[in-house]
Amino acid sequence: MFHVESATWTEHDSESRIGRGNKSINHHRNSFPLLFLGSRNSRLSSSLKTPRNSKRRNHQAGTRKAPRLKIFVHLGCVAQFLMGELGSDPGNSCLSLQEIELLLSSDGKGSVPWLDQKRPTFLFFSANWCRPCANFTKVLVEIYKTLKSTEREFQVIFVSLDRDEASFAEYSRSMPWLVLPFDPRISRRLCEHYKVAHIPSLILWSSDSNAVEEDVVGFVEDYGVDAFPFTRKRREQLEAMDEALRIGAGSLQALLGSPERDYLISGEGKKIPISDLAGKTVGLYFGGQWSPPCRSFAHQLLDVYDELGVSEPGKFEVVFVSSDSNEDEFDQNTSSMPWPSIPYRDKALKKLSRIFLVNRIPAVVLLGPDGKTLSTNGRNLITSHGAKAFPFTETKITDLERLLEKEREGLPEQVSDPKHQHELKLDRAMAYVCDGCTRPGRFWVFSCNNCNFDLHPQCLQGSPSAYPIP
Ligand SMILES: [Zn+2]
Ligand SMILES: [Zn+2]
Repeated sequence: MFHVESATWTEHDSESRIGRGNKSINHHRNSFPLLFLGSRNSRLSSSLKTPRNSKRRNHQAGTRKAPRLKIFVHLGCVAQFLMGELGSDPGNSCLSLQEIELLLSSDGKGSVPWLDQKRPTFLFFSANWCRPCANFTKVLVEIYKTLKSTEREFQVIFVSLDRDEASFAEYSRSMPWLVLPFDPRISRRLCEHYKVAHIPSLILWSSDSNAVEEDVVGFVEDYGVDAFPFTRKRREQLEAMDEALRIGAGSLQALLGSPERDYLISGEGKKIPISDLAGKTVGLYFGGQWSPPCRSFAHQLLDVYDELGVSEPGKFEVVFVSSDSNEDEFDQNTSSMPWPSIPYRDKALKKLSRIFLVNRIPAVVLLGPDGKTLSTNGRNLITSHGAKAFPFTETKITDLERLLEKEREGLPEQVSDPKHQHELKLDRAMAYVCDGCTRPGRFWVFSCNNCNFDLHPQCLQGSPSAYPIP
């Protein structure tokens, strides 16, 4: 996403979650659920509890003292806009022009452009207290400015869900677009009409008041300026392009590079042409120095890299796709890597995570010599089989699995051993340390269900020497 947010990382035992979610599951990964839209007197508890409706002031049309605004512009236009939206809703008839003040530029003094029906206009539901909103606002401001400079403009109208006018005013100042004056009641109506259930939400405003478009926050986060004009059609186009890259129908340049960059960088900061990877099996390693599971996995990957460098020279390369939280960390991390990296903060980082749906690190995506994706589960293949898994093809993995099944043949399901007081059961483990010989083991193990006791099959008393240490 806008480069992965370090603030949203959490850690698990064996992997670390990164800021992007699996979009098929949770497209609004950074959104806050929205359970409240009350009057300015209602306070939103941080736990977002049920609104205290009893305390909500129930304004009648015209009884509320409207905040005085500095400029009045195009009242008809604004009214048309709002009535167009709200007029069709039952119960909205109490809204009057006096209540609905106007749209004004966020600095409170500039001239306000006409709402241009030719340019797409979005309602931006957001609040100062909401951290994902703050992050998204920064992203949206960048996109807004970039597109404006290329004359691909769109309009945004901020609909505030702030707790009070001061927060609203402060938040509005960070926005280069139109803002709707602070009025919780109007915001609530708009939320109801646009079925806004979480913020931030960015919803295309249509002149057809019955047409409610879907929220595009996730789409904008995923694709940035490329998402313009933020339509469903554009989303389908971009997703089809991603799909093509995911299966390997594009070039390595399209996948790892950008129109401005056709190289990767080495640990020493040298440029390595992407074309150098042609014909090699490539492992895209998604990781970050801050993540302990990544630091431990990097050692395993390095072993495999070195081993294949000897046994299969020139056939395997790794490309580091960084989730480091800052540039110093990235420099420190990559300086010890013998393989090249995508430059820090490069757009391709986000693109690769998106294309391969990477939301946890460490992760390895393996690409064959023809550029086609071999596996998105390269981490498991490397952890389970090491360099033996090369060239990581389905046939190779099936053979390895078959070999493992063969090793299992003849092993009892359950045994007793004088080295341990409990029964031991046959199990399969990625990695363990044998309590008999203290050497590491992988795959088949005799384990105790009660204690943390593990034994190599060949360390069982009276075990035939036919069980070699894997
Ligand atoms: Zn042992
Ligand atoms: Zn035991």
